[in-house]
Amino acid sequence: MTTVGVLALQGSFNEHMAALRRIGVKGVEIRKAEQLQAVDALIIPGGESTTMAKLAHCHNLVRPLLSVDYHLFCIMVAIVLEIGLGESDGFELSDGLGFPALREFVSTGKPVWGTCAGLIFLANKAIGQKSGGQELIGGLDCIVNRNFFGSQLQSFETELSVPKLAEEEGGPNGFRGVFIRAPAILEVGPDVEILADCPVPLETKKSIMSVDNGQEEEMLVSCERVIVAVRQGNLLGTAFHPELTSDLRWHSFFLKMKKDSSDRSLQCVPTSGTD
Ligand code: GLN
Repeated sequence: MTTVGVLALQGSFNEHMAALRRIGVKGVEIRKAEQLQAVDALIIPGGESTTMAKLAHCHNLVRPLLSVDYHLFCIMVAIVLEIGLGESDGFELSDGLGFPALREFVSTGKPVWGTCAGLIFLANKAIGQKSGGQELIGGLDCIVNRNFFGSQLQSFETELSVPKLAEEEGGPNGFRGVFIRAPAILEVGPDVEILADCPVPLETKKSIMSVDNGQEEEMLVSCERVIVAVRQGNLLGTAFHPELTSDLRWHSFFLKMKKDSSDRSLQCVPTSGTD
């Protein structure tokens, strides 16, 4: 039986767990590196990517930086959330050897799906407002722009056309995309298949124009449409939140990737940073 891990440090992991339950698949909340050993696929939910990356460090899920900042941050989080961070949780400034941490998991070729903040976390590069600082897992050959559509107030829902989803899962071409302070994908590598794009709302264009960050401004203002869903081998990325809708086709699409992937191994290029 397929078991799907859902990274459960922060964000909309409960909703992904519920979606998996509804399609009859066993979901496991992942908080420790060693739990990854028992799962066949992994979902990284939406939330806040910087916070998620810092928590992943605390839980030894990415290679920890030997930084006092992170050490202090982990202790503060542990105090606030009252979580125990003993050695069995992997909280130590080691390199996590022996644990199939997130990057190692991606490089096994097992399917990994990042939604929104999860997509940012999985990208090879993140740019844009409030970017920088957090480490990325990497593997998905694309450049994402964090908070592309503006602030929380500019969150929106829109009908996306996703022919691939209809082809594989049946139902209409249309899918209701829920975008919450969402990223957009600005560039993809040659092995990345574009599954959906969407027009840049006028609101977004206006707010981007007011951002004073040189080159990026010109590039963003001139684009009419941006990519919002991609697939590369066993990696899936969506800038929106399928787990917040009643349409479960993205979850079953992801599970089919698992079946297809049995003897394919992904060429993963993990990266360690944003611009
Ligand atoms: N803007 C968030 C970030 O940068 C992502 C938002 C989301 O996951 N809904 O991490």
